[in-house]
Amino acid sequence: MKRIALKSTVLGLSAAALLAAAPAELQADEKFVTIGTGGQTGVYYVVGGSICKLVNRGTKNHNIKCTHTTGGSVANINGIRAGDLDLGVAQSDWQFHAYNGTAPDKFPDGAFTELRAVFSVHPEPFTVVARADSGITSFDDLKGKRVNVGNPGSGQRGTMEVVMKEMGWSMDDFKLASELKSAEQSQALCDNKIDAMVFTVGHPSGSIKEATTSCDSVIVPVTGAAIDKLVNENAYYAKATIPGGMYKGTDGDTTTFGVGATFVTSTNTDEETVYQMVKAVFDNFDRFKRLHPAFANLEPANMISNNLSAPLHDGAVRYYKEKGWM
Ligand code: GLU
Repeated sequence: MKRIALKSTVLGLSAAALLAAAPAELQADEKFVTIGTGGQTGVYYVVGGSICKLVNRGTKNHNIKCTHTTGGSVANINGIRAGDLDLGVAQSDWQFHAYNGTAPDKFPDGAFTELRAVFSVHPEPFTVVARADSGITSFDDLKGKRVNVGNPGSGQRGTMEVVMKEMGWSMDDFKLASELKSAEQSQALCDNKIDAMVFTVGHPSGSIKEATTSCDSVIVPVTGAAIDKLVNENAYYAKATIPGGMYKGTDGDTTTFGVGATFVTSTNTDEETVYQMVKAVFDNFDRFKRLHPAFANLEPANMISNNLSAPLHDGAVRYYKEKGWM
């Protein structure tokens, strides 16, 4: 008995001594979170980077360390479900389909009922950019052309497939259907490897700036009966306008349709972590809005209600109630 007691005292003492001598980071119960975003020249990358920047400013208080990766809407939601990502940015249409299990080709495991919304971010018009010398002036003109339909896993690839289905098109209707990632497509356009590219993205975006300044190209309207039907039948789509003069080569407004970017997670991410992340963003909201021009018109009241089809995460609800927003 005596010996055992002595031993545990010795162990206790040495553990205490070790802790006293250890640098702060060894004592802290650090929590690493990863946010899935999109290509480096898109806006999702900045959403994730900005959230992480604000979260990491407070690591010494809450011990959360945040990093972000690329991928795109569908890949991000599937990454959260697989446990590879903690949170992610995703288009409102793919949030809807993941939660409701209505797109089995993208989310093969059925309804992802543990998916949770955190807040919505900027609007994302479905944006088609074509080389000026391609003669493409409408969505219909894409037939027979070389078109980048987006990498599998990206939101634009999925939304392009929805539009094509509604129009009765298949990939064979294009001369070439390439699957480049968003960060690669502007250069491919200007190198004349493709005639047009598709990107569901906030504006202004680095990618569309690159495509319209590195060579002569134009933003193409996406309108017609198929688009009207999609917008009328689905709450997660809306008509959208890309303002004229925002990009070189397109002086007038361009009509298209679009979705909203949203920030999502799952019930697997604990309440305190989500609370602290939401708090980092909204306690520093003016700073957050300055991190990208596409965030300029964000309003908290809209961000906690618009474009969200999954239920809000408990950690987000806790902060919104504390602020008196709910
Ligand atoms: N909407 C795109 C997607 O879901 C990403 C847009 C961006 O990178 O800003 O993949």
